[in-house]
Amino acid sequence: MSFANLGLNPTILKAIEASGYTAPTAVQTAAIPAALAGSDLLVSSHTGSGKTAAFLLPSLHRLATPSTLPGKGPRVLVLTPTRELALQVEKAAATYGRGLSRLRTVCLVGGAPYAQQLRGLRDAVDIVVATPGRLMDHMESGRIEFSRLEVLVLDEADRMLDMGFIDDIQTIVGRTPDTRQTLLFSATLDGVVGSLARKLTRNPQRIEVATPVQHEARIDQRMLFADNFSHKNKLLDAVLRDTELQQALIFTATKRGAEELAESLFEQGFAVDALHGDMQQSKRTRTLQRLRDGRTRVLVATDVAARGIDVAGITHVINFDLPRQAEDYVHRIGHTGRAGRTGFAVTLVNHSEKHLVRNIERYTGQTVRIDVIAGLEPTARAEKSTRPRFVDKAKKPYAGRSNDRFDGARKAGFSNNRPPREGVTVRTRQPAK
Ligand code: AMP
Repeated sequence: MSFANLGLNPTILKAIEASGYTAPTAVQTAAIPAALAGSDLLVSSHTGSGKTAAFLLPSLHRLATPSTLPGKGPRVLVLTPTRELALQVEKAAATYGRGLSRLRTVCLVGGAPYAQQLRGLRDAVDIVVATPGRLMDHMESGRIEFSRLEVLVLDEADRMLDMGFIDDIQTIVGRTPDTRQTLLFSATLDGVVGSLARKLTRNPQRIEVATPVQHEARIDQRMLFADNFSHKNKLLDAVLRDTELQQALIFTATKRGAEELAESLFEQGFAVDALHGDMQQSKRTRTLQRLRDGRTRVLVATDVAARGIDVAGITHVINFDLPRQAEDYVHRIGHTGRAGRTGFAVTLVNHSEKHLVRNIERYTGQTVRIDVIAGLEPTARAEKSTRPRFVDKAKKPYAGRSNDRFDGARKAGFSNNRPPREGVTVRTRQPAK
């Protein structure tokens, strides 16, 4: 399959060629012709599958023909869960749409000054990429209307629902014309996302291409058992000294955990930054730029903040804390193994969390290999404690766990800032000098 067979405008095909893409990805092959034919779409796809181009290219194709409708509201609206993802989508729209004359895009995200956004909305706009909260602000002050809207895209819809945007989304959609085309992208189409999707779309075509199994084919997944917080820090230190590591993305369960771990790694001399939702937009943008430039080697992030990071140099994803849901695991490890390279996903697991790794394995259909770092083997005593005890299946598996764990570690006298470093001598991979 080639892009030329998908029915896209030649100007857009030129931009794709200039981007260096030689063939459409699976999600693009399925979604682009269906979107061009005018169908509503429900697409289950993961970060890294090429989903952004899957919805942007057919939307840009429409924009190549001028609108006959009066008004200055956007013709395409893309809703995303995070600012980073919104900025990335806007950038991609400018890249793929560079041959189209006078394409105007505006990004409306929280944490950024209003003045520039208001200036952007003064004249007619083609594409608005927005996070729901800030878009609602602009709608309430009458700065934006959707009478010309042709395409509504919900990107990472599951994540937007997780973040509590369901009411905002329904309000926003309620203000758009019924004639719109709706393209909904989500890691999953089950549960609440599925019922929202049914409400918002008409006779949609369902596309499920990026199964986790296919997606993770280039990722070497391992887990390392940690006896306690101190042991976990030593394991992390060893992994970060892997000679194959270019850049690492470490996930923690909490914002505070991300700050503390970044601080601790900084003290150990790593070129490290933290990224989480409490940071000002300008600081987040600078942090991501440093990562892209390669000035940051290790980024410690929370799940939500990491959405939309697209940096090819990330060779290692490290789960310092286990993700809350198996789906998050797939999102996390999808940040490595890009552009045809092999990535490493290392999960640090407390002995009591073994059953949670099994949940992940069931979800992905893949085994996460148990690895041991020589000199840092888990203790036999701790190994015994991994025998299945009472697992309350009705209980949400990770709720409240990580804080307990941090608190427990602190009470036990382990300090995140000063992890004991003695005893790290031999490793399975050669450490960097
Ligand atoms: P996404 O899933 O939209 O986050 O895209 C993941 C990455 O794949 C981005 O860096 C895109 O630039 C890249 N990409 C998208 N489509 C293609 C393609 N057809 N060929 C090669 N790379 C692509």
